[in-house]
Amino acid sequence: MTRPASVLNETLTADAALRARAARVVPGGMWGHLNAARLPEGYPQFFASAQGCRIRDVDGREYIDFMCSWGPVLLGHRHPEIEAAAQAQAALGDCFNGPGEVMVDLAEDLVAMVPHADWAMFQKNGGDATTACVTIARAGTTRRKVLVARGSYHGALPWCSPSLIGVTSEDRAHLVHFDYNDVASLQAAVTDAGNDLAAILVTAFRHDMGRDLELPTVEFAQAARAACDAAGAALIIDEVRAGLRLDLGGSWEALGVRPDLAAWSKAIANGHALAAVTGNDRFRDAATKVFVTGSFWCGTVAMAAARATLRIARETGVPAHLHAMGLRLRDGLAALADQHGVAIRQSGPPQMPLVLFDDDLDVRKGRAFCSAALRHGAFFHPQHNMFLSAAHGPADIDEALEAAAQGFRAVRELR
Ligand code: PMP
Repeated sequence: MTRPASVLNETLTADAALRARAARVVPGGMWGHLNAARLPEGYPQFFASAQGCRIRDVDGREYIDFMCSWGPVLLGHRHPEIEAAAQAQAALGDCFNGPGEVMVDLAEDLVAMVPHADWAMFQKNGGDATTACVTIARAGTTRRKVLVARGSYHGALPWCSPSLIGVTSEDRAHLVHFDYNDVASLQAAVTDAGNDLAAILVTAFRHDMGRDLELPTVEFAQAARAACDAAGAALIIDEVRAGLRLDLGGSWEALGVRPDLAAWSKAIANGHALAAVTGNDRFRDAATKVFVTGSFWCGTVAMAAARATLRIARETGVPAHLHAMGLRLRDGLAALADQHGVAIRQSGPPQMPLVLFDDDLDVRKGRAFCSAALRHGAFFHPQHNMFLSAAHGPADIDEALEAAAQGFRAVRELR
């Protein structure tokens, strides 16, 4: 039975017990960004179930979810139509000796929906897709240098991991860095790469952890496109995080700039494991020749879920709904911050909001805000952009704002 977060005491009994067991059999108890050491105080590490925009931890506490599984949940947890499509496919089998018909259907859906796409191919994780894009760009240009923005996240593989532990300098040998939205720095990196420029790889917008989010400027997007055209290189947009939340045709459609290749994952199958690369005809031959594959890349269930996700996203105009709910949250947070005399900065597209506190280098305020809001039933994040889903309605946002009010109170009381 669900117990409201507010009436529970602070002890995460089942969570604490699982952490202790995990510490013995999972290195560090948990890997990467989900390690408990990185979570604000009181945050659960383990979850039991989810429905719509609500998630429940292993201690039975329920929260309005503003992380949406770090992006994959676009239409809400356990969306009935998505799960029905997945189950119908699962009844026939998931993992065969090769793909099912659904792969061709899904590729056709993507080619019809994404203007730059003449073809699509499928993987499992975002890092599979970004890596495949880079490999295809190098194969198609027979060049090596790939330009990436300092601080942008493209996955946890050795060539792009934010950590250098266990990574060799050779893994990173042909990356050239520039600053996102800085045309002069992009052009300097292009010059640096010279006639070895294979690709410019950019995230849909600047969403580096812990700093204000930044939408790309038209000048920056056009400069990236022009530099690739002049050099015969590939413009790659990493849509893994933003894909389907801003614009179903691609996040740079509003800027009038199209990539040659794009990497998708997270939201495309509403929580089922799937990634995709879309590309134009210039890179079809290269995409044909490179050797990329994975044991689970043909899985039919995730592809069936993706077809249903794309269809519902198209039919219901998902980005506009997320935008409206994100604005409601943003306006409400701004009013509450004002009321409590706490200075915050809200940035990014409303569909993927970030709230940072002024004078908060050590994130003490951000963590206090999130911990207090969590106790009152809203699951926010202090440093990473958050995510709205189609399951968030006005009443959910208003309820979350009540929890946020407790968060602002906690910040005001910090000494
Ligand atoms: N690119 C971006 C922009 C991402 O946000 C992520 C995941 N957070 C990735 C790539 C890597 O995706 P995955 O973790 O599924 O490999």
